Amino acid sequence: MSLFGPRQLAAILFPMPLPEPFDYEVPDGLDVAPGDHVIAPLGKREAQGVVWSVRDAGPADEGRKIKPLLARLDAPALSEAVRRFVDWTAHYLVEPQGVVLRSVLRSPAALKPSPEETVYTLGEARPTRMTPARQRVLDIAGEGRALSAAELAREAGVSVSVVKGLADTDVLISQQVLLDPPYAIPDPYREGLALNDLQERAAVILRRLIAAGGFQAALIDGVTGSGKTEVYFEAIAELLRRDPEAQILVLLPEIALTQAIMARFEARFGAAPAPWHSASPPHERRRTWREVACGRARIVVGARSALFLPFCNLKLLIVDEEHDPTYKQSDGITYHGRDLAVARAKLEGALVILASATPSLESLVNAENGRYVHIHLPARAGTALLPDISTIDLREHPPEKGHWLSPPLLKAMAHALEQGEQVLLYLNRRGFAPLVLCKACGHKMKSPETDRWLVEHRYTGRLVCHVTGFSMAKPKACPECGAEDSLIGVGPGVERVAEEARQCFPDHVVEVFSSDTARNGEAVAELVARMERGEIDILVGTQIAAKGHNFPKLTLVGVVDADLGLAGGDLRAGERTYQTLVQAAGRAGRADKPGRALLQTHEPGHEAIQALVRGDRDAFLEAERMARDMLGMPPYGRLAAIILSGPDPVLLDQTAQEIARAAPLTEGVEIFGPAEPPLAVVRGRYRRRFLIQAERNVDVSAYMRAWAARVKIPSSIRMGIDIEPYNFL
Ligand code: ADP
Repeated sequence: MSLFGPRQLAAILFPMPLPEPFDYEVPDGLDVAPGDHVIAPLGKREAQGVVWSVRDAGPADEGRKIKPLLARLDAPALSEAVRRFVDWTAHYLVEPQGVVLRSVLRSPAALKPSPEETVYTLGEARPTRMTPARQRVLDIAGEGRALSAAELAREAGVSVSVVKGLADTDVLISQQVLLDPPYAIPDPYREGLALNDLQERAAVILRRLIAAGGFQAALIDGVTGSGKTEVYFEAIAELLRRDPEAQILVLLPEIALTQAIMARFEARFGAAPAPWHSASPPHERRRTWREVACGRARIVVGARSALFLPFCNLKLLIVDEEHDPTYKQSDGITYHGRDLAVARAKLEGALVILASATPSLESLVNAENGRYVHIHLPARAGTALLPDISTIDLREHPPEKGHWLSPPLLKAMAHALEQGEQVLLYLNRRGFAPLVLCKACGHKMKSPETDRWLVEHRYTGRLVCHVTGFSMAKPKACPECGAEDSLIGVGPGVERVAEEARQCFPDHVVEVFSSDTARNGEAVAELVARMERGEIDILVGTQIAAKGHNFPKLTLVGVVDADLGLAGGDLRAGERTYQTLVQAAGRAGRADKPGRALLQTHEPGHEAIQALVRGDRDAFLEAERMARDMLGMPPYGRLAAIILSGPDPVLLDQTAQEIARAAPLTEGVEIFGPAEPPLAVVRGRYRRRFLIQAERNVDVSAYMRAWAARVKIPSSIRMGIDIEPYNFL
């Protein structure tokens, strides 16, 4: 005890895989509060952490050797809500708190104030002696842009000393500017589109929720093109009119959607929102993180990882296309963006709006039992009509041998193209062919790392494993029997369908839209812009093309294989197929021309396909719901998974058996496994899975944590826990 009262202890959480915060002594003269960023000794190093709590030392701390904190950083503290969100998420996902904190502190450089830079503009004075080099600098500076010495020198093609010389004589005036300037403030008083009656009714409900304040959840359940975006823009505007300091987070499932939506935000609010994506360059991340933490960034548009940004006044979260499977993160910490968005809204006392044309069964059930406010937008905005959906029975109208487009689809394409309209062919398979085999001996080319078939990519001439990214040049001879030129691709991928479309319509422009041809935001924006300008006639795309885009001249969507995805043991296979097909079909006829969608299928009688054709979502959902309810599957029950992997299959199986024996016995919990999953080997590591099914009222996270605490696993084995798994591979 010091002379001035009890010494103070601070519990510090570090952004590392440590199970809990550690105690440190607060030295005299250092003032710290929960949420502050600090530096503390950790082992032999110094590490940066966050104050989780502060308390007076008690009798139990008597004689404990506790190291002192070293410094407090001058950076905005993490709010109480952010800290509780870290705690809640760690509990829910069965992860150490420090691992979740690491997701929050994604841009360490952002804790320091923005760096400054010196830029130059033209002053009044003129050089006493003019040289051609000086003249070039003056010409560039005369354009009115503020450039750094290096930029000026580069653009003028001179050395930096020429620029510095001109600055010394006041011909150029220097000025300090922030390298990461604040984002422009959105203007909520700008006029948006005049809302139609249905949209206005939806907006009224949202305005009311905003006026009420506090935690609420709403589901905008509106057909494709009904104006869901316009309606949530109105909610954002209303919030900012009431509370100009409020912060808003808009989550999108795909980087592919970001560019177009950013432009719409800018048009609506006169300011581009702050972007956040794990693929953003570090300087952009640093700028967004800092502006969010200090409360200056009002609207953030980002991918699921934006959920962990350190907002200090978050009042509204929007999860657009809430049904999208890409919200489920499966690398590193596994979480579902929608579930975490609702949890964060609760902790922040904010409104969360989920929007979709094909809401997940989970959200629909929540809306129907009153937990979420259910907002319907049953018709398209303006004159656009929902596309007419029909099937092509492939048993009656098979494509030519070795082809994938049936005669009725080709005829419909020819008709649309004659009218100067665009066609989207949808097939959710990247590459040229999903299987490569030797026509001499039947050998199938498999990935050495996973034992899965290698996919042929014609553009790059490589065979690729879509699980690990392993790739190899396509061999000239079969590695098994040595026969030359005997390897052939079997089955269709988008590249092959594009090749066929080019053969059938040689005078039209055909492009492929998949994560291979659109690797980053710019490439996506470029393809989307060309499509919007009508420079592409036939777009052959995977699911990346089926989401959210507005192509005014697109009137025909051909679904190459509507059956893909109906088979397979995945719990959500039927639901996902239905959602994807509705989204793909929804791309057609979004402006003033009516659209149609043709589904090629071998099973025209399948429930999901029938429901689509009839436009009868309720019938489809009812069947799906009954099946899940009967089986106790989500949302009527809970699931969790344990995924084990290791290099030695014998040790792995032994460990799996020990884990099985350690499972706590609890009523309402059933355990399946250990089992060998479809993905049995990845990169030389064997895999085993458990599936845990629990009744709705069981705290699965607590159960899994208790179970994990009972097992000791050998160091060569990795064990991951997935709460509410979405894939079963
Ligand atoms: P959703 O998000 O439901 O797919 P969007 O908000 O993207 O729908 O709207 C689809 C298209 O209809 C967009 O081009 C949008 O600008 C237009 N639109 C929506 N509402 C209106 C409206 N009230 N008046 C005019 N155009 C509208």
